[in-house]
Amino acid sequence: MSLAETFPEITKRNEPLAPYTHLKIGGPAEFLIQPRSVDELRSVLTTCQTQQVPVRMLGGGNNLLVRDDPVPGAVVQLTAPAFTMIEWDGKRITAGGGGPLFDLIAFSVRQGLTGLETLVGLRGTVGGSVRCNVGDRSGEIGQGVRQVTVLTETGKVQVRTQEELNFSEHQSDIDEPVILNVVFELEKAPAAAVLKRMRKAWILRKAAEPLSFQAAVRLFRNPPAQTAATLIDRAGMTKARVNNAELSERNSNYVVAHPGTTATDILQLADRVRTRVRERTGVDLDRELHVW
Ligand SMILES: Cc1cc2nc3c(=O)[nH]c(=O)nc-3n(C[C@H](O)[C@H](O)[C@H](O)COP(=O)(O)OP(=O)(O)OC[C@H]3O[C@@H](n4cnc5c(N)ncnc54)[C@H](O)[C@@H]3O)c2cc1C
Repeated sequence: MSLAETFPEITKRNEPLAPYTHLKIGGPAEFLIQPRSVDELRSVLTTCQTQQVPVRMLGGGNNLLVRDDPVPGAVVQLTAPAFTMIEWDGKRITAGGGGPLFDLIAFSVRQGLTGLETLVGLRGTVGGSVRCNVGDRSGEIGQGVRQVTVLTETGKVQVRTQEELNFSEHQSDIDEPVILNVVFELEKAPAAAVLKRMRKAWILRKAAEPLSFQAAVRLFRNPPAQTAATLIDRAGMTKARVNNAELSERNSNYVVAHPGTTATDILQLADRVRTRVRERTGVDLDRELHVW
């Protein structure tokens, strides 16, 4: 039996993935599955394991490029309330992996807790953001993480504590397929001061990003003590373009997908930029964008 027959109420077959991503490009998923409970999710994972069907997790699609061809296997998205809850106990917040990062930040600020407010304006789910250790010079999400509950390929629940987690430049070592929930420990602070920091972070972030109406994503991780954008400019690739994919004039580490852009255009542009930066500066840029 196919996944669509085993889980008919939560599975869409040949579902276009473009609308689920920030770039709004890419091919369809063979199966898009949106489980309603943790048990249902575990049963999806065990079925995929038994049938040797590949599983991919989809968050908000903000650090994701879906190729133009169909994506084989199961794409799982955690949109049900079981995966988006937020609970709070003193300085600890537990957030479901499928919930929006923005909701978590707003919740923490309302409780007068500091630590997440400078991440305001970053798009994504809690799970995707922790997997990609989102942040900037003002801080990274991994700093506040105390515990991550994951599901293994076989649907087993496992808890990884702070000591068992490693976060680095826009990546983590969490390689289990599902981040189910994350526990953060934050500090108490005067609410007005937290709010002020949040507003300042918002203004700074929006000024450094492509314009909000543009579909754009970041391409590369910043190498130690340098920024990818500066290296790209130094390599003479400012505003480089492949068909309708163009580097943003506001920040060269973002690619803007003008109407009609394909995933192939973006991958070709990223390859060209990487090669030129290596030739001109000797630095090998590491791709931040996840590609399916
Ligand atoms: C305009 C723009 C500006 C950005 N600026 C920044 C920035 O300043 N700093 C920064 O760090 N990032 C930035 N990003 C990147 C992006 O915001 C983050 O990486 C984002 O938080 C990823 O979350 P997501 O839910 O969208 O994940 P997705 O893009 O959907 O997925 C990313 C990866 O995480 C995995 N994943 C998603 N959910 C789960 C889960 N529950 N369990 C396990 N794995 C999961 C996916 O399989 C994929 O491998 C920017 C993106 C955009 C579009």
